[in-house]
Amino acid sequence: MGKLLWGTPKDLRTLLCELVSWESRTLTEGEKEFPFKVENKLKQLDYFKQHPEFLALHEADQGRNLVMALYEHPKAADTIVLISHFDTVQTEEYGDLEQLAFRPEELTKKLFERKDDLPEEARADLESGNYLFGRGTMDMKMGLALHMALIEKASMENWPLNLVLLTVPDEEVNSMGMRKAVSELVNLREERGLSYKMFFNSEPAFSQKPGDEKHYVYSGTLGKIMPAALFYGKETHVGEPLKGMTANYMASFLSQAMEWNALYRESDLGESTPLPVSLQQKDLKMQYSTQTPYRATALYNVFLMKRNAAEVMELFEQTAMQAATMCNTAYSGLCRREGIEGIGEVQVLRFEQLLEYAEAKRGVRFVSKLKAEILAHPEWDEREKSLRIADKLMIQCHELAPAIILLFAPPYYPAVNSSEDPFIMECIATVKRAAAENGVEVDQVHYFNGLCDLSYVNYSDPGNGWSSYERNTPVWGETYSIPFADMLELRAPVLNVGPFGKDAHQYTERLHMDSAFVHTPHMLESLMKSLCKKVLETV
Ligand SMILES: [Zn+2]
Repeated sequence: MGKLLWGTPKDLRTLLCELVSWESRTLTEGEKEFPFKVENKLKQLDYFKQHPEFLALHEADQGRNLVMALYEHPKAADTIVLISHFDTVQTEEYGDLEQLAFRPEELTKKLFERKDDLPEEARADLESGNYLFGRGTMDMKMGLALHMALIEKASMENWPLNLVLLTVPDEEVNSMGMRKAVSELVNLREERGLSYKMFFNSEPAFSQKPGDEKHYVYSGTLGKIMPAALFYGKETHVGEPLKGMTANYMASFLSQAMEWNALYRESDLGESTPLPVSLQQKDLKMQYSTQTPYRATALYNVFLMKRNAAEVMELFEQTAMQAATMCNTAYSGLCRREGIEGIGEVQVLRFEQLLEYAEAKRGVRFVSKLKAEILAHPEWDEREKSLRIADKLMIQCHELAPAIILLFAPPYYPAVNSSEDPFIMECIATVKRAAAENGVEVDQVHYFNGLCDLSYVNYSDPGNGWSSYERNTPVWGETYSIPFADMLELRAPVLNVGPFGKDAHQYTERLHMDSAFVHTPHMLESLMKSLCKKVLETV
């Protein structure tokens, strides 16, 4: 048997630093180049020299590709899918050290020279010599390195199971890579007659609170959805404020009602979702004038555990109705006080209702042309496009004003959880045993709180909740879609075991080296080998 390329802690460290040096911030040229470099790296393995057809790139969008590599044992059907993302967040926060963000060894040395500038915990970690700093070290190029090492070892030692290594772009923004990968996974399964047993991610283990050094594994991931609103009031001149209603006035009621609203908190297995909060609230006036702002928008962040899109829309509508009632009550009091008739009551409409109304009024063709004009602006992101579509429709239907239009803005990450799956329980027990051999204590968390691509597998939705999402997402089927039907096909439990690190998305992002190069590889290998044993028993 030949020598492993990525078999020792030292080799893994070198591999990680190489992966990090291939800058791949989301939406940069580096993100486009990265998959070709990984492909070349994997081509160094004898296995892919012999089976070049098992290594492929698939386009996600805009010249960005995902990488899929299959290690197949001739006798096995059972397949584990190893998922990672190779994009990273941006690096401005490194300031004058930005050049070094992708050179972990140098960055870690350089930070030593100015360690007194670091936050207390980061400084202590740096001085301990246990951590490697750098963008993407923790989130999550180490995860990819571990998967590469696994597929190498499996192929060299001829493990009796199948592994699919899947690494995708765009996880940090819209998860375009994973949404595309879903259909490719379904295709691959059909082509090769695979049976997916588990979707296995290696996002890093986060500390749950400062100073917490426990190693967590995750048997699910939180979901996230973004209810959004367009507020359409009535314009007037500042000198005659009573002749109109500003959108800002309307928006204030809904934002009060949404932020920290406990109705949106979900609990499961002793864990709870963080409360909702607004992510943006702005009026649509482009420049200063004495015309009052009569159109505004707001975006709210809602985390999920069990609820589907239809349930969130119900709840959002309920909250918006209450907000509108409060607004109308306040406004009619004001009308009485000022002795005016007022401009009418604020009503609440779902986007699907507005769309139906607009199509009946102006015709389907007119409406789709109007949508197409907005979608043709690449400089606007999915959220901007969504809100602008609602806005353009309301301009055509202003007799509905004052109104609050409710919609969903991308992205949407369904929640997924496999805590009660017996197979996953067994896997976690194996991982814990392997960790204990190195003196590492592992704890289980039921919902990964960092959002991840596991949201797009093992989907279940008995209530067809996604159709509400489709109908109320203005950009649905155009610039944004989720392959719900294919996701339903990918029914296998999920598990996330990754290396320990701290401060993802901050300039103090760092990876615990023993965890990354010694402990986690042992956990992963022990887990995969235990699965091999099971396969052998059933063959
Ligand atoms: Zn990540």
